[in-house]
Amino acid sequence: MARYREALCRLCRREGEKLFLKGDRCYTEKCSVERRKYPPGQHGQRRGKLSDYGIQLREKQKVRNMYGLLERQFKRYFEWAERQKGVTGEVLLQFLERRLDNIVYRMGFAVNRRQARQLVSHGFFLVNGRAVNIPSYLVKAGDVVEVKEKGRKVPAIVESMEKAQHRGIPSWIELDSANFRGKVSHIPTREEIALPVQEQLIVELYSK
Ligand code: SF4
Repeated sequence: MARYREALCRLCRREGEKLFLKGDRCYTEKCSVERRKYPPGQHGQRRGKLSDYGIQLREKQKVRNMYGLLERQFKRYFEWAERQKGVTGEVLLQFLERRLDNIVYRMGFAVNRRQARQLVSHGFFLVNGRAVNIPSYLVKAGDVVEVKEKGRKVPAIVESMEKAQHRGIPSWIELDSANFRGKVSHIPTREEIALPVQEQLIVELYSK
């Protein structure tokens, strides 16, 4: 387990910024990015200047790792985004935000997206009253996501909800924590997706 946690922190250190892949630890001084401000590995402290391609690649890896996706899955979201009306980079982020595991995390039912994915797969959630156990399920505006009765005593969910109070709930989600449910009031705009990401770099990378 310890090695597994370290591996997650290495992903943040590679990007030189917090990707918030864990829970509480990300908000404390124990965070590895706070303690070691250089990339991991033997030559981590000797990395030179990145090329344009390198910068684009790192931005893509950063976002992919934030949402915990494999390259193939991530690329598929990009291809979908490209076919939609609107600004491709923004549509890409909207697709990622609409994933059920992300919504569960945003609503505070999980401490991170990885845990959210596990809880969704284990069947703890309803969408509009129907059981959904697919983490990639795309939630729509107006959908209500709810913790099933059997999940309302699960310590991981209850503790996450308590911790989420200081993390904050996004403006596009209406949370009813007393009833273990939340509504996606609308699909977030780019400004509402509070991520320090330059999505245009990802578009440039895949458009080569
Ligand atoms: Fe580790 Fe979280 Fe810090 Fe990333 S933000 S390095 S996952 S503690």
